[in-house]
Amino acid sequence: MTPSLITVSYLGAAALFILALGGLKDNETARRGNMFGIVGMIIAVLVTIAAFVSNKLEILIVIMVAGGALGFVLSRRVQMTQMPELVAILHSLVGLAAVLIGFANFMDASIQFTGVEKTIHEVEVYIGIAIGALTFTGSVVAYGKLSGMLGGQPMLLPARHWLNLAMFVAVIVVAIKFVGEPDHQQAMIYLLIMTAIAMVFGVHMVAAIGGADMPVVISMLNSYSGWAAAATGFMLSNDLLIVTGALVGSSGAILSYIMCRAMNRQFISVIAGGFGTSGGGSAGSSIEGEVQTIDTAGVAELLSQAKEVMVIPGYGMATAQAQHAIADISKTLIEKGVNVRFGIHPVAGRMPGHMNVLLAEAKVPYDIVFEMDEINDDFPDIDVSIVVGANDTVNPLAQEDADSPIAGMPVLEVWKGQTTVVLKRGMAAGYAGVDNPLFVKENTRMLFGDAKESLDLLAKAI
Ligand code: NDP
Repeated sequence: MTPSLITVSYLGAAALFILALGGLKDNETARRGNMFGIVGMIIAVLVTIAAFVSNKLEILIVIMVAGGALGFVLSRRVQMTQMPELVAILHSLVGLAAVLIGFANFMDASIQFTGVEKTIHEVEVYIGIAIGALTFTGSVVAYGKLSGMLGGQPMLLPARHWLNLAMFVAVIVVAIKFVGEPDHQQAMIYLLIMTAIAMVFGVHMVAAIGGADMPVVISMLNSYSGWAAAATGFMLSNDLLIVTGALVGSSGAILSYIMCRAMNRQFISVIAGGFGTSGGGSAGSSIEGEVQTIDTAGVAELLSQAKEVMVIPGYGMATAQAQHAIADISKTLIEKGVNVRFGIHPVAGRMPGHMNVLLAEAKVPYDIVFEMDEINDDFPDIDVSIVVGANDTVNPLAQEDADSPIAGMPVLEVWKGQTTVVLKRGMAAGYAGVDNPLFVKENTRMLFGDAKESLDLLAKAI
């Protein structure tokens, strides 16, 4: 393959990746965006193989077929509710790949640089492995937390900030020793020491983050995986990998920033960890007041009188797969002349856009789905709010208790409406492990049970 053909193909693939990102910003164009991404990636892989693989192609094909088949099976099997875990574990693979490529590159005797070029190459290898190692272990811990294998609460070691600082300084000191070390074996030892520190750093950083701050960590790890890929691109002198890594890295960083703003958090304090240390408590332990229950006939009665209805979906809607049921109910109500809207909190569910994806799957029209900021002032005019498996995102404690793990996080102010119906199975806390006084408010009615089963009954009742 000629160098100019490689360059043109790479440019085409990079343009497709940019179009993919552009498409993904909107529900209506997301499918097209995905197609752009797929085509771009196919071009990137085929051109890279044709251009750079001159021998042992059969090994590559076997590995690609095995990896592709595994990915295919996993993606067919994964439930929508498990997507965040899948994303986290995929980030860990990007990190691991950066580490392995870094070591392979360092051990490759055919790569011979001298002078400044040698120094630059060593810095590229060092940075690539460092970011890759912390992305790898950080993502594994994130996977553990999201899948419930590890607790959602932050793990806070004494003097954790000093520990982080010490590890950071150690990585810099080892870097100074590594770069320019003439003895290859000694340099390898430095590289291994740094890798171990970076791995511990990744575990410690993500383990210390809790409460409701995990969404920021997910997008931050997404960003890190991009930078790890970009560093690998520099190592391999591959322009497309640099561009693609930078696209992922910067879009992940922008998403982290947007999420921090949406949750009223400072990025640096999220990374430093420690939210979720006080307050909280076990499910239902500190709520004072009486829970008022309601049955589906009662909800149907409320809805028959309502003119304005707001639906607030949360993680429970995803686990119950109740999106189709609530979509049908909203359709019926709209046909009866009720103004039905959906209010989406930026971190509802377990990944950015989680609720939007489910509602789109259930064919809820985009023009009745609103972001939190667009509808939060409208609750005083709402006759009935239906909270479908949401908890932290409608918790008034975020505004009332400065010590709460979710303190300061903007929430959907459902309690300002006339009546709120909350669908959940019991009084269990949400992801942040915090009690929710909404459930005992005067104007709240609890409809206990699996959200889908309750909504199916409600559909019949209305
Ligand atoms: P929560 O996780 O706060 O609460 C979900 C509620 O759904 C639970 O209290 C549970 O109560 C209920 N539930 C579970 N299964 C069912 C079911 N089958 N039927 C009915 N109810 C059910 O959800 P929110 O969406 O309000 O908040 C999201 C939380 O997740 C936030 O804390 C956010 O920070 C965090 N997070 C978000 C990410 C993102 O990117 N969006 C990523 C990682 C974390 P019960 O068991 O009693 O039924």
